[in-house]
Amino acid sequence: MSEITNMYEKMGIRPEVLKFGNTIEKDLKERFDEIDQRAEYNQLKVLHAMQKNHVSADCFNYVSGYGYDDHGRDTLEKIYADVFHTESALVRPQITCGTHALALSLAANLRPGDELLAAGGKPYDTLEEVIGIRPSKGSLAEYGISYRQVDLLEDGTFDFDSIREAINEKTKMVTVQRSKGYQTRPSFSVAQIGEVIRFVKEIKPGVICMVDNCYGEFVEEIEPSDVGADMVVGSLIKNPGGGLAPIGGYIAGKEELIENCAYRLTSPGLGKEVGASLGIMQSFYQGLFLAPTVVASALKGAILAAKIYEKLGYPVVPNGTESRHDIIQAVELGSAEAMIAFCHGIQAAAPVDSYVAPEPWAMPGYDSDVIMAAGTFVQGSSIELSADGPIKPPYAVYFQGGLTWPSAKLGILMSLEHLVRAGIVKL
Ligand SMILES: *Cc1c(COP(=O)(O)O)cnc(C)c1O
Repeated sequence: MSEITNMYEKMGIRPEVLKFGNTIEKDLKERFDEIDQRAEYNQLKVLHAMQKNHVSADCFNYVSGYGYDDHGRDTLEKIYADVFHTESALVRPQITCGTHALALSLAANLRPGDELLAAGGKPYDTLEEVIGIRPSKGSLAEYGISYRQVDLLEDGTFDFDSIREAINEKTKMVTVQRSKGYQTRPSFSVAQIGEVIRFVKEIKPGVICMVDNCYGEFVEEIEPSDVGADMVVGSLIKNPGGGLAPIGGYIAGKEELIENCAYRLTSPGLGKEVGASLGIMQSFYQGLFLAPTVVASALKGAILAAKIYEKLGYPVVPNGTESRHDIIQAVELGSAEAMIAFCHGIQAAAPVDSYVAPEPWAMPGYDSDVIMAAGTFVQGSSIELSADGPIKPPYAVYFQGGLTWPSAKLGILMSLEHLVRAGIVKL
């Protein structure tokens, strides 16, 4: 046996599982080359923005108190605006997570009497309470902001006729979620998002188009803001934080909209001027610098997982050959037992907390128990190797992340190892 087979065995991967994975990996060379090329382009895009904005060591200085003239924070926001080709951006540790960034973009730019339209079906679970689809304190509904939703057609594409019918004199903002989130629909390509934005703006030019960009950043060479989105929104403990940002969210878009977000985040009259970065800036810069190659590792892991579980007969979204629009891989495992075994495997491959076994629990914001495997450096970070999913039919597990390709590969092999050990899969 070779050294590496020995090492895998020492980690708990039996030779049959390794062989099964390696055979599948061999056929992926061309796809991996494409991913590397896209990462090369996106790396240059990020580097160019950093050089253009004269990043210097004093961008990493500790700033406390009000945070007036926080040079590192202000420069980073210019860099994000350049990377996303927008007029402005808000990138802050005071934005606590992706849901907060999305809630901010909505609440800051909608007023009582306005209507929000979800053009691509039900938004991410946590937004149901933000919008008030599920009643919640402080929801947009409580402030008199109404909501409408147009579901996707059966084939997962936009229902343009119903979108046209849904747009009315109250419609102020249209939102589209790039990634599938906890659904088994396909994720949207940036081109598809561009098409729906063009359609909406033809009907009502003044409408604000906001895209939930979570998990999509740097997967393609363009972003939704390159195809007409007025705001793109995401979390720094996903793709753009590159695994190093320990907290934070971003909103990039039109100057006026971002200003509104800043006034809502801090206070009317204060806006972007306050919000000290408290020494966190180096991780934001360095994370953004690493993000394109980290996303590439995660994508390779997602494709290997798709190919492996497809071969074993499980439905996977996207399938092993489809082009990728986010870093998430859904695998429909068909039972709670299989979901738990899969997640135990992912956890067992992690650098942190590898010795614990995750269990399903009731998470705030979700309407069923959720299991979450995440042995991460940053709590709940899903650009790091992680898997999660609500324990309800079709018992789909959502696999994502992997800061390095070898660690992503180990995670997938370990998930398979645990399914074999539980007697659910026979090789
Ligand atoms: C993760 C995610 C969110 C919410 O982000 P949190 O940081 O978990 O609050 C919203 N939308 C999508 C598509 C996501 O993937």
